[in-house]
Amino acid sequence: RLPILAGAVTFQDHPRQMIGFVLDNSARKELEQRKDDFISMASHELRSPLTALKMHTSLLRRQLAMQGFQTSAPALSSMETQINKVTRLVEELLDVSKIQAGRLEYRQETVDLDALLREIADTMQQTHPSHSILVRGAVQANLMADRDRLGQVFTNLISNAIKYSPGAETVEMDLEASPETVTIRVRDHGLGIPREQRDKIFERFYRVTGPKQKAIPGLGMGLYIVAEIVKRHGGTITVESAVGKGSIFTVTLPKKRDTLD
Ligand code: ADP
Repeated sequence: RLPILAGAVTFQDHPRQMIGFVLDNSARKELEQRKDDFISMASHELRSPLTALKMHTSLLRRQLAMQGFQTSAPALSSMETQINKVTRLVEELLDVSKIQAGRLEYRQETVDLDALLREIADTMQQTHPSHSILVRGAVQANLMADRDRLGQVFTNLISNAIKYSPGAETVEMDLEASPETVTIRVRDHGLGIPREQRDKIFERFYRVTGPKQKAIPGLGMGLYIVAEIVKRHGGTITVESAVGKGSIFTVTLPKKRDTLD
């Protein structure tokens, strides 16, 4: 009777394992959903107090100026900088949860890409005087795109290039156009990204592990949002990198598109 018993055990074991797997999976999905809901709720809840804080600091600035309290200006500026930082994080959290829910909306407008990229480089240069941001080449193209969202892509890439390049001051943006596409390369000479982690950096909340990277603040949302926006504009983003030498992020966008996906 032993062989039959053995067969029976094998027969009964399989369905049990399968049921276990299905339960595990649905529990994990529920947990993921709760996490997504929490991120969405938290970012919405944080938005209104931040708006109030912003309004009150600007009111305070005007009142202090009228009363001649110039000595308080540095403290106020520092408050405004911190409020802006938290606002950006909350906006990114909101973007992440909208992407997850498939609700990130895009405007459609004609965008002068060359002008947009130069404007971003100028703004980044003004806010980061420690680095030189060079723009080389040109892309004479009017794209059907969401200007703000596309701007977010390159602001983010340049901001990362600066952030992950302690001690390497030059960031280059190379622009190139072909009859069908435009290519924008953002190049830095900083930390670089280990080969085995290069694909993962576009995942939600992923940060490269390593003592140097850990010392630099961030939540791993930027590139996830960047990749989504590029995809919605029909483009691609890739990365080349050498540890200790630097990274190149390449965005390619189609010139002609009647609508966004
Ligand atoms: P964050 O910078 O907030 O961590 P991102 O999504 O923008 O999030 O980037 C994900 C990770 O990819 C970063 O944590 C960093 O380790 C790595 N990374 C991004 N850009 C660069 C870069 N230019 N050089 C080196 N590492 C980078």
